[in-house]
Amino acid sequence: MVHLKNLQEIQHLRESAQLVSRTLAEVAGHMREGVTTLELDKVAEAYITGHNARPAFKGYKVGREVFPSTLCTSVNQQVVHGIPNDVPLKSGDIVSIDCGVHLNGYYGDSAYTFGVGQLSDEVIKLCHVTYDSLYKGIDKSRVGFRVGDISEAIQSYCEGHGYGVVRDLVGHGIGRSLHEAPQVPNFGRKGTGRKLKKGLTICIEPMINMGTHEVYTGEDRWTINTLDELPSAHYEHMVLIDKGEAEVLSTFEYIENIIEAPYKLEFTNG
Ligand code: MG
Ligand code: MG
Repeated sequence: MVHLKNLQEIQHLRESAQLVSRTLAEVAGHMREGVTTLELDKVAEAYITGHNARPAFKGYKVGREVFPSTLCTSVNQQVVHGIPNDVPLKSGDIVSIDCGVHLNGYYGDSAYTFGVGQLSDEVIKLCHVTYDSLYKGIDKSRVGFRVGDISEAIQSYCEGHGYGVVRDLVGHGIGRSLHEAPQVPNFGRKGTGRKLKKGLTICIEPMINMGTHEVYTGEDRWTINTLDELPSAHYEHMVLIDKGEAEVLSTFEYIENIIEAPYKLEFTNG
């Protein structure tokens, strides 16, 4: 069942989206060579709990597995669902930071791929194309369009650059549940799938691989990795279908104020 949100619910979701966006900016402020993803996780958890909210991923269950952390931190060939650890980030790494919050009964969920130190031109391009594909999807997030229009826009743009579009994981509705109907795949055919209606809130989150689209789950039973070990990038926004253009509930503005410009994937702020 797809749940269309009323004005009060939308206001709650705006607040959850703001909190998750500010949390990612806190993390951005600590991003540098040598920092560990466990340290970043502590920063995020303190920020969220300090704002009367709860980290949404910590304790999240899939079958018998329980996710242990506030953030999903997925480095290089890791696609999503990486578990923070004590390995220092090094120059040339990219890391997808995915964060979820639960505030006043409503979820927020957003992700951003950061660069550490000096990146190769190939990796920078992967991040730029993935980032742009998210906005191609948002452009199709309009009343009267269908989920498949979003999916096709992302897929055709990324495959046009020779990249692999992950099939095994998809975007989703969001509200009182972290993952609601409808699923929002990053691949599909235009004109297919559920019709988008005013009041629908969805997370669009392209997961784009430099090489093959195929992935496998690591031994920790959470981390999704590319099969060919080539890097993967991931950006995620919460989007409200409204009259006319969609309202993007989350924002990268706070992050990008800190990293100085959109697309700037090098960190100079130490
Ligand atoms: Mg997410
Ligand atoms: Mg999500």
